[in-house]
This record gives sequence, C-alpha cells and structure tokens, in this order.
Amino acid sequence: MRANSLLFFFLLLFLFAAAAPEAPAQYKKYPESCPYCKHDPKILEKCGLVGHGPMPYGKGTSDSIKKLLTYATPLFIESKHFRICSTLQEYEIPELQWKNYEAELARLGKTLPGFKPKEKKLDPWLRIHLLAQRCEDRYARFLQIIQLKDEDFYSRTLGKPYRGEGRYLGMKDKFELFLLRNEHEFTDALRDQSGSMTKLTKREHFVTRGALSVFIPCEGDLKPDDQLWAHISHNLGHNFVLGYKYYSYEPPRWFEEGFAHFYEKEVNEDYNSFDSEENALAEMTHAHDWQAEALKIMDKGKAMPIAELMHKKSFNEINKEDHVVCWSKVEFMIKAHPAETAKYMDAIRGRLNDKGFPDGSDLVAIQRNIIKDAFKLSLADFDKEWEKWARKAYGAVRPR
Ligand SMILES: [Zn+2]
Ligand SMILES: [Zn+2]
Repeated sequence: MRANSLLFFFLLLFLFAAAAPEAPAQYKKYPESCPYCKHDPKILEKCGLVGHGPMPYGKGTSDSIKKLLTYATPLFIESKHFRICSTLQEYEIPELQWKNYEAELARLGKTLPGFKPKEKKLDPWLRIHLLAQRCEDRYARFLQIIQLKDEDFYSRTLGKPYRGEGRYLGMKDKFELFLLRNEHEFTDALRDQSGSMTKLTKREHFVTRGALSVFIPCEGDLKPDDQLWAHISHNLGHNFVLGYKYYSYEPPRWFEEGFAHFYEKEVNEDYNSFDSEENALAEMTHAHDWQAEALKIMDKGKAMPIAELMHKKSFNEINKEDHVVCWSKVEFMIKAHPAETAKYMDAIRGRLNDKGFPDGSDLVAIQRNIIKDAFKLSLADFDKEWEKWARKAYGAVRPR
C-alpha cells in the first residue's frame, strides 16, 4: 500500500516567452473580511459555501497558514467539496477575453451581493469566490464522467459497494488548492507544509486528514488567469483520478495524465501542463494544436498502442507524442463511450484484496479485461476505433 506524498513535479510549457521574474512588488491592501458575502451565513448558504474560515487546512489549519504567511495576507474559502487558500492579487480581465468570462461572472453575480458582473477588475475576494465556483463545476463534471452522485460516496460500509473511505469521491476530506502569488511565498508554504524544496507545482496527500492538495506558484506564465485556470484544472484532473475511491495506489499513468490533459483542454485549449517525476524533465510537446498533432502522429504510424501505454509505470516514460496520444485516447473514451469509460474508471480504482486491503496489482490485466467486457473491444480494436473516431472528430475542424 502506498499512500504518502505524491513525489512528482510539473513542468509547464511556455507557449509564449516566459515572463521576466517579478520585481518585489508593493501589494495593494484589501479589506480583511469579504466585502461581498460579508461572512453572512444566509448569503453563504445561498452561494453553496461554508465560509472563509477558520478551517482545517494542509497539515494544520487556515490560522496556522495565516501565521506562517502573515506578510502575504492569504484568503481562504470553503465550498461543499473544496478548501482554497489564495494570495492572488487583483486581476484585470483582458478585453479580448472578456466574452470567455461573461457567463460565469453572470452566474456569480446572481448569488453574490454587491458584485456587478460587468466589472472587469477582479479583486482578491472575487477571485477566490470565482475559483470556488469553478472548482465545484469541475467536481460536478467528474461526477458526470464517473456516472455517480455525491450520495454514492460514504465511509466504508458493510453491505454497500466499496467506494473509498469518505464522502469526497472516496477521500476522507475535501480537495484543496494552494495558490501562491510568487516563488517566495510558494517556497515558504511548501517547505513548511511538505518539506519539499521544489520550485514547480506540487501535489500533496495530507494522509492524516485524507485530503489531496496542490501547491501552485502563480507567476510567470501562470500569472494570466486563463492559463492559471487551465493549470489548476489539469491538477484537479490528477487529484480526482487519484482520489476516486480513495488514494491507496497509483492509477495507470497513461490514463491519469491523459485525463489531466483532457480536463485542462476542456477549460482552455491553448495551455498545456506536463508531469514528470522528481529530478527529471518532462518531454513536452510544443505543438499548439493537439488535434492536428494527433492526426500527424497517426499519419506517421507513431501512435503508441494502448497495449503499450498501459505498461508505462511513470510519467518519465511518456514522451511528447505519447502525451498527445494519451489525451486523445482518453477524449475518445469519454466522448464516444461514456458509460464504458465510467466502468473502466470504476474497475481501475478502489480495488481491494480478499482481506479488504487496497490492491493495485495487475492493473494491466484489469484494464485489458474491462476494455473487453465493457467496450466489447480487443486492445487492437480499441486502437482502430480510436483512430477512426479521431480522424473524423479532428479532421472536420481543420484549420484552426
Ligand atoms: Zn465572501
Ligand atoms: Zn499531468
């Protein structure tokens, strides 16, 4: 059984020239309490929120984080399935992107008093409210993909199907997000919370609380809100797959990374995040259009068969073409075979041996069998069906 820390890191694809390191900034002061919900239980309930703390968080509480980062004035928010800590500053939505924000800001405006959805400047309190709404949307999307409901998750109960150890997709506690506005704050927070010294995004499992978290340094190419949100969604994709039916062993890496790319592209097609193991560099594709890239890989006959992808044990074995292929095969599964994909995900997560202990052995055979039983396809036919689907789905939308 392996369930401690998640020792893998990220590398980001710099689509645009990497921004210069931020000069020490004089940060603007904002009200210490939320001027929108005013921490009023009635308003919070209407927004589907628990509140702005204090709350359990990371290895301790929101108060211990506030003490650690006094200079950064972190804000907290707790929703039904998430706890978020943010030191992000005000963000001005670029004119060209305004239409991408319109619908979600209008939704936020319906529940949050005093917020005018036409406002183009998002102050730190609005940003954390918007994040909570977005994260809950991604959670709902995951429930849709696995074809389950919130009430299908509970602590282990005799006589009921095993779905992990708790109410949050099988995790005991809520999913967390730790957004730090610069490397300095990121280093301070991560070192204190996990002992890690990495400068790159890191996912963490707080085992005693049973909470999966991700620490993100929000500078450079993660400063623009649309790119940061893509990166967050990628990480939520990982943490949801890991947490589904409790994180007690690693899922098949090809599916986990393919799913995370799928989750990222659903919110932003133009930004890509990549995983690698500690001390290694991820092989990142610089292709901008992954649909065109998938077609190119197919034409060259270089698409890795699923039978081989299933044997990859670490992110380091996933090369740049494989990233695109993993993403596309997961997209094919979810879009062309939604019910079968839910069965596949159910089959690979939360396995127990006859003594009731987590058992992540033999995942290759388990994947082969569920593809045969649920998809009614051999692995070779799965690849053929995928190629047929992808040629039709991606061929029809050229050029972008
Ligand atoms: Zn508020
Ligand atoms: Zn990833």
